[in-house]
Amino acid sequence: MTSPASTAPRSITVPSSTQPHTSADDGPALTVGVLAETAAGERRVALDPSAADRLTKAGRVVLVESGAGTDATFEDAAYTAAGAILTPRTQIIAKSTIIPVMRFPDAELLKALRSGQVLIGLIDPMNNLTAIADLATRGVTVVALELLPRTLSRAQSMDALSSQSSAAGYRAGIVAAAAYARYLPMMITAAGTATPAKAIVIGTGVAGLQAIGTLKRLGAVVTGYDVRAASRGEVESLGAKFLTSSVAQGAGAGGYARAMTDAEKKTQQGELARALVDFDIIITTAKVPGRTPPELVSAATLKSLRAGSVCVDLGSSDKGGNVSGSVDGKTTVTAEGVTVIGAGELASGLPASASQMYARNVLAVIASLAPKNVIMVDQTDEVTQNVVVSFDGAITNASVRNALKLDPLPGAAAPAKVTAS
Ligand code: NAD
Repeated sequence: MTSPASTAPRSITVPSSTQPHTSADDGPALTVGVLAETAAGERRVALDPSAADRLTKAGRVVLVESGAGTDATFEDAAYTAAGAILTPRTQIIAKSTIIPVMRFPDAELLKALRSGQVLIGLIDPMNNLTAIADLATRGVTVVALELLPRTLSRAQSMDALSSQSSAAGYRAGIVAAAAYARYLPMMITAAGTATPAKAIVIGTGVAGLQAIGTLKRLGAVVTGYDVRAASRGEVESLGAKFLTSSVAQGAGAGGYARAMTDAEKKTQQGELARALVDFDIIITTAKVPGRTPPELVSAATLKSLRAGSVCVDLGSSDKGGNVSGSVDGKTTVTAEGVTVIGAGELASGLPASASQMYARNVLAVIASLAPKNVIMVDQTDEVTQNVVVSFDGAITNASVRNALKLDPLPGAAAPAKVTAS
């Protein structure tokens, strides 16, 4: 793998000579390929018909695999009406310059990607380092949306972590309510009165605040809990109570929680164990990409909950979850009658809205990297420096280089913080 010679803006020439030209000095039109996602249970699609329409109106060519949007309610006809061309998968992979995806590609797509192509997605780079190093060596430009500097205002339209967390948080409230065998609101009827459900949301970032909003609208009595004291105001502004953590100074860089020490973890588990017995619905959101999520609801705490209680674990992944024993994508009921829902990819449960928002994020990234028909990678730009993981045969993102134990590039910035911890 070579290092790029300089940090000046560099460009990729669009490889296909068969594409139409949009203007004499603008090069052949960029081709954007929309593939069906192949991960089990994934219902989203990386580009919806309205985004395809915007691209084709801007002179881009959009190729779509038949059925790519069906699970997200977008039929082939909606794409063709938007000017996209239905094309076999292998042809899309061969012809496209830009391939947006929801998640890390399957082995077949990984193998087929070639020099000059740009892969854009929530590709969990820290968990896929070897494959990404291989893509870099093969000249594929990899854009990892997780690495976006989210607090930069001009990056917010590209913030796919937030758009998908919003969808997941909203959905978590709905999923919890559906799994709960009682009313959420207080109900006064001729046949008696039902007391409102008590819900707690642990981790009140983007997903947690959406979950609180949904549960409040459904009539539950809601509490928020976070190790970042700064989230109190946001929780209270939604009409929920805030449970102050004994690790209230748990904020780290960039608005993320920092890693807890072993002593803090113990203290936190103890205080949560005491508090949680009082709740009917628990939603946890402390997801840490590429790392083991903190266990916030222990096995002992689960045992102490009332039968019929529901835990929805958005932190669930193949590395474990925030709730002891939660299995991503599965619902289990404990011997004590507590329902535990492993829901690490819950945005996929709201596929149309989540895909629409994600596609807007993708459009913003394409507009930034390819304002005309050439991919421009400006390594002096803070957004590009972070989201572009590989370019021109090298790993260019400082954090990913660091994780791969590669020397920093000459003149490169220190590794940016990329994960909550
Ligand atoms: P996240 O997905 O990293 O974590 C979810 C929540 O869990 C966070 O609130 C975090 O503090 C909390 N958490 C982590 N470990 C915990 C533990 N052990 N116990 C209890 N809570 C724990 O968070 P996120 O939704 O990505 O948001 C992170 C921060 O970034 C927030 O402050 C958010 O407001 C901020 N943010 C800002 C922008 C912006 O400025 N445009 C955009 C997105 C997010």
